[in-house]
Amino acid sequence: MSYIDNKVPPTRDTRLKICAGFGGSVEDLLGCSKRGCVFAKDRSFSQTGSCQMYLSLAMVMTIPDSVTVLHGPVGCGSHAYMMEFPIKTGSTGRGFQRSSFLWISTNLGESDIIGGGEQKLKETVQYVDTEFHPRVIFVVSTCAPNIIGDDLDEICDGLRNELTAKIVPLHCPGFKTRVNATAYDTVYHGLAKNLEFEPKPFVDFRPFNKYDPNFDIESAKYKYKKSRTVNLFNASAIGVPDEKEVVRLLTAMDLKVNISTEYSSLDDFRLLSEASLNISMCTVHDDYLLDILNKRYGTPCLILNMPIGIQNTGEWLRAIAKKTGDTEKVEAIIKKEEADLMKALEPMREKIKGKRVLLNGGVIRVACMAVLLKELGAEVLGVRPYHYDSLSDPIYERLAEEFPGIDVNVASNQVYELVNIIKREKPDLVFAHPGSNAWVVKAGSVWIPLFAPAKNYLGYRGVYDVARSMVRSLRNPSFSKNAAERIPLPFRKDWYAKNPYSYIAAPVEI
Ligand code: SF4
Repeated sequence: MSYIDNKVPPTRDTRLKICAGFGGSVEDLLGCSKRGCVFAKDRSFSQTGSCQMYLSLAMVMTIPDSVTVLHGPVGCGSHAYMMEFPIKTGSTGRGFQRSSFLWISTNLGESDIIGGGEQKLKETVQYVDTEFHPRVIFVVSTCAPNIIGDDLDEICDGLRNELTAKIVPLHCPGFKTRVNATAYDTVYHGLAKNLEFEPKPFVDFRPFNKYDPNFDIESAKYKYKKSRTVNLFNASAIGVPDEKEVVRLLTAMDLKVNISTEYSSLDDFRLLSEASLNISMCTVHDDYLLDILNKRYGTPCLILNMPIGIQNTGEWLRAIAKKTGDTEKVEAIIKKEEADLMKALEPMREKIKGKRVLLNGGVIRVACMAVLLKELGAEVLGVRPYHYDSLSDPIYERLAEEFPGIDVNVASNQVYELVNIIKREKPDLVFAHPGSNAWVVKAGSVWIPLFAPAKNYLGYRGVYDVARSMVRSLRNPSFSKNAAERIPLPFRKDWYAKNPYSYIAAPVEI
């Protein structure tokens, strides 16, 4: 029995070995990971982090012709407002307009918590179906209905035959996981269980007739097309310029690229089984779905690292070429791209050389960015991954080779640790998630987003864009300098004299 047979997918905390708190050298982290003790580490004091439900919303709200029903107190929906702008611009950048952007809360109150919220959920879904006629309704359950025991799947199954829309239940209680990335598994589980991934005859293709004189030619054409088609899996942190860059490189290898699953329509999902290779752009995102597609359709997959930086992009392309039989072609592409890039980077190198940089964000992205920054001549002081898991070992082994003794602080936000490190190390630049910008600036460093949907980070153009952002931002750091002088941080002064990892519990051997 595999995970997909269960109603509710496992959280990352149970599916993988997860660490949410660590401070020390990369060698200690890897040693601790091998022994298992890193996964039993945590904090004796934590600031708040964000919840998996937010990330699930960020994914499903990108699906065109969908409405999201948020089953819970209305406050959980405060996340949803933030998504309208990026998703609308993300849709436009991918060539289609989102005329409507709808989400509805079941608005559970005190009496529902006592009496149950199932009836409200049922009525809300029926209302959405008849009022807005979406093609798909995502029902997202939050903490409260999971505590009181509302049976989301039973309600959805009971409604399935009376709705015109497809219905996809998603179990997203924030309290169940310490790792936001659980959202990827939750959403993929819901999509794989409730939507079609196979093409429909007479809708998506004309079935071959073996008595047709062209049968052999048509079958050969179909097989060839499938052999040159690859699925590329995107994520909210990978914007339109990044997708275009990766598609540019894969198209140069004569591959046809389908991008999924964000911003994909129900018609696009039906083509997921029509590819010869499923390619992940980030280890953290896709292993759950790629495993399902492999078991269901036998499609091989590639989960390596992120194509961020010169070396990483080359390795990533070579690994794809090995699977698609384009090894000679890829060498010519890499040679030309690298030569062009080196020339373009030349005027910026001197301005970046020796700049001290800290990285804060997704576990794989920060490690890949560290390598990119080294390629540009910057000095990487440390990385702060949001979490660490057993899948990350190969990437961090590579990090240890590139940066012996580098400091790793595993921390989901935990800005008190972040500002302590910034005050102590005084980096020239901090690459961090957009939510951390104010803290970085108030602590006195220049901030650059670790990802931004309108910017390029992946592939060769990504290297150039990162270099250009660094040069521009370093030209005038006075905003951060003035902010740090004038805006006090809320922490006691003696905190900055303490070890930033004072609240990380000592390792427990397991
Ligand atoms: S943690 Fe729970 S209550 Fe808070 S926003 Fe997330 S789902 Fe809602």
